Amino acid sequence: PFKLSIRGLYKAYGDAVALERVTMDVLTGEFVTLLGPSGSGKSTLLQLICGLVPPSGGRLFIDGADRTQASAAERDIGVVFQNYALFPHLTVGENVAFPLRIRGLERSVILRRMEAALGMVGLTGYTERMPSELSGGQQQRVALARCLVYQPSLILMDESFSALDRNRRLVLQDEVRRIHRETGTTFIFVTHDQEEAMTMSDRICLMNRGRVEQFDTPRALYDTP
Ligand code: ADP
Ligand code: ADP
Repeated sequence: PFKLSIRGLYKAYGDAVALERVTMDVLTGEFVTLLGPSGSGKSTLLQLICGLVPPSGGRLFIDGADRTQASAAERDIGVVFQNYALFPHLTVGENVAFPLRIRGLERSVILRRMEAALGMVGLTGYTERMPSELSGGQQQRVALARCLVYQPSLILMDESFSALDRNRRLVLQDEVRRIHRETGTTFIFVTHDQEEAMTMSDRICLMNRGRVEQFDTPRALYDTP
């Protein structure tokens, strides 16, 4: 079953084409990475998928329903941005609970799911801490927990680990893969790091100059016979 079906989606800013027409399917539960150099169109594709910018043309379906015109909130997609975007004045627990608060869930349900989400990213006991007290890797985990807590159908991660040192990056790669396995959530992950893409992904979408050049398994792309 296709979680996400993209048909001829493209984006131009005036005369400049940021993304050429893309047609692709992402399967339910799949871990897909958008890989390419700076300026290749990765962020643009991600922004089109989550509905942060309107496409210049083409269509996008989620679970078979046309979501081309749907707002970001209606798409049921969680996004982890490069800069975490945590609320600095809220505790870790309040940050993670926030998406459930605005959905008006019951307090006991919010607490339970908030604690479960923090447990999933290895931050049990951090509820009362402030974001500024945490390392970059821990903040990134909080941002991921804030997505996991409302169980979106799709999680997008944009260059999420690029600000971290190598060790923290490797640890988080493992964590995210484990969470992917355990939750069965569909992930789309953006990176310019080929090694990261190869270790993380079921399939890699190779981008260059606003085009999707290849979309295949790491093995098919990089195993030279
Ligand atoms: P990245 O390469 O990590 O995507 P950029 O610095 O290229 O980061 O882009 C950051 C933001 O600026 C994105 O939201 C992108 O859409 C926007 N952006 C990139 N290039 C331009 C441009 N030429 N004019 C206006 N906005 C741009
Ligand atoms: P990547 O994420 O791979 O670095 P982007 O999607 O940010 O690539 O950018 C792809 C191309 O589109 C770049 O040439 C960039 O300058 C251009 N672009 C992105 N956003 C904008 C924007 N808001 N206005 C004008 N050009 C943009």
